Amino acid sequence: MEISKIRKMIKDLSLERFKAEMEMLRTYSRKKMLYGSVVKKYKACGKGGCKCTKGLLHGPFYYLTFKEGKKTRMIFIKKNLWDKAIKLNDNYRKWRKLRADISKISKEILILLDEIEKENTVGIDDIDKKGNDRE
Ligand SMILES: [Zn+2]
Repeated sequence: MEISKIRKMIKDLSLERFKAEMEMLRTYSRKKMLYGSVVKKYKACGKGGCKCTKGLLHGPFYYLTFKEGKKTRMIFIKKNLWDKAIKLNDNYRKWRKLRADISKISKEILILLDEIEKENTVGIDDIDKKGNDRE
């Protein structure tokens, strides 16, 4: 690939990364986050004759699942906390998404910088040849 093209790609990626970083700083760094995932569940109580035995399950119920060490934990969320838990978990998910985007873009930039390095690296025997006098 031509170096001018690579430069252009790096600039575009840097801009994209900058936007993600600014979104993290300006928006999400000001918000509280709830770690994990909020999951919605419907359940059968198991009592004979209950509507749930006919497939009309109870719920919804909301749980927070998250990793603690190697274990996955699941905690019941009280109804009065549903809205807030969902909102704060959404902040967390958006934060992590932006973070992942920044990481991915950074890796792409490094690959492109390595391209330039490879293209511009000469051996000691090449340094007095014409065309290799860019400093
Ligand atoms: Zn039931």
